[in-house]
Amino acid sequence: EVPVLCIDGPTASGKGTLAVAVAYQLGYHYLDSGTLYRVAGLTMRRNGLEADAAHEARIAELARTLPLRFADGKVLLAGEDVSDAIRTEAAGMDASRVSALPAVREALLALQKSFRRLPGLMADGRDMGTVVFPDADLKVYLTASAAQRAERRHKQLISKGISTTLDSLRADLEARDLRDSSRSVAPLKPAPDARLLDNSALSVEQSVEQVIAWWQE
Ligand code: C5P
Repeated sequence: EVPVLCIDGPTASGKGTLAVAVAYQLGYHYLDSGTLYRVAGLTMRRNGLEADAAHEARIAELARTLPLRFADGKVLLAGEDVSDAIRTEAAGMDASRVSALPAVREALLALQKSFRRLPGLMADGRDMGTVVFPDADLKVYLTASAAQRAERRHKQLISKGISTTLDSLRADLEARDLRDSSRSVAPLKPAPDARLLDNSALSVEQSVEQVIAWWQE
């Protein structure tokens, strides 16, 4: 079997940064599953649909056939660069809404599994270790305090020229975490066999070292 490592955890816990660094160090493929839900959310909006049971089948159909490509670090939807459009907090909230629909999660399963190719995969998300790759070789559940996470996301958005306040960000990410952990399908929670890593007081390098050390055990 092709080796897989998973990093799951709440919003802005630093999963992306850590996962990219680990993937680079191991020379593995990288799956940012949140991007798929963000693109599904954007597609829902653009089609004037709401994330409810009445539209679930239609959104799932769109999600199953997303004309999605990744090129030069950009996310292309039917050739259009949507990298910035999917990064706003509003897009994160839409992603969270569509991701609570079971048919949408089901529709994105095959695409996620297709990232598992040699020499290996580093997968990042909410349910990588619990649902998508339950047989993963290593599962990490990454957390950080809400204050830390709001601050990191704030810096990230400011550096992209998107203006927000720390307070509104913190409120948004707590609302998103609440929805993600209370939904009925694939709720955000550590897999029973996940290693817990709280990176509130760790540098990126220290977190990378810890994950690589676990990987080599
Ligand atoms: O990680 P990111 O913030 O890009 O994810 C956006 C949203 O997509 C999350 O808040 C969550 O609701 C959803 N998601 C999910 N399962 C994943 C990845 C993301 O439900 N594996």
